[in-house]
Amino acid sequence: MKIEQLFDQEGSIYMGSQRDIQKSSIGIFGVNYDGTTSFKPGTRFGPEAIRNVSKSLETFCPYLEKDLSNIRYIDFGSLIIDLENTESVIKRVTFATDFLIKKDLKPLILGGEHSITTGAIESLVKKYPDLVLIQLDAHADLRDSYMNNKNSHACTMQRCIEKLPNKTILQIGIRSGTQEEFQKMRNNDQLIEFNQGNKNSLLEALEKIKGLPIYLTIDLDWFDPSLLSGTGTPEPGGYFWGDFEFIIKNLKELNLIGADIVELSPNIDSSGVSSIVASKVARSLIMTLDKKY
Ligand code: MN
Ligand code: MN
Repeated sequence: MKIEQLFDQEGSIYMGSQRDIQKSSIGIFGVNYDGTTSFKPGTRFGPEAIRNVSKSLETFCPYLEKDLSNIRYIDFGSLIIDLENTESVIKRVTFATDFLIKKDLKPLILGGEHSITTGAIESLVKKYPDLVLIQLDAHADLRDSYMNNKNSHACTMQRCIEKLPNKTILQIGIRSGTQEEFQKMRNNDQLIEFNQGNKNSLLEALEKIKGLPIYLTIDLDWFDPSLLSGTGTPEPGGYFWGDFEFIIKNLKELNLIGADIVELSPNIDSSGVSSIVASKVARSLIMTLDKKY
């Protein structure tokens, strides 16, 4: 499939992105989809908001000691999708991820709602059968079905686990879900308790997956609503920027092979701060995915 058939390249791109595949090691694309959103829609505007505010960020990151201007990444624009059909959107994400892998690009996907992660995992397990999934999210997303839809964003981690051959997923700091979901996470040792007082369980969990390929999915409602209110299902009791820095610093030495940032609903937050936080998350991920310098 040709690039023009996969992506709409008309819109804005993330600051500093290349247009040349050959020179890049990371490939960004957006999925403007919010079809299964259960509470407030609007995540379809997420990718554009992340790109638009990216120009206001510095290219240098003092905590990772890296500068975007030394990294080569390409932004393909928005994935062309059929808004009416979740399953076909997920398949399209698989297609696009396949395309990136063939070009030796690590995917950085901008959502859109969380259901799109399933499509990326479907693709990545073909190249990385021992893939490990790390999820930052307020919600467990382990329902088998939600509102009669198995592809709902409330089921996305369950769908991903089904695709992972080694069934290894770390769910960091989940604070909302059904009793059944919490039982599931605890029974399988996949819920990583994470707070100011307890960061050891995360470090121990990361130690165990050293060397394995890791995909990181960041549902932005993981952050506290006082920092990031622009999301469809905000959940009090969340995390702050320092917590994110701590995690990303510890991922730096590990084998991150792809990531996504989902559930930004920019119009809910009229201050625009949510989009800036999301865009800075994107900057951190580009730097963490880059292993060349
Ligand atoms: Mn969530
Ligand atoms: Mn989620």
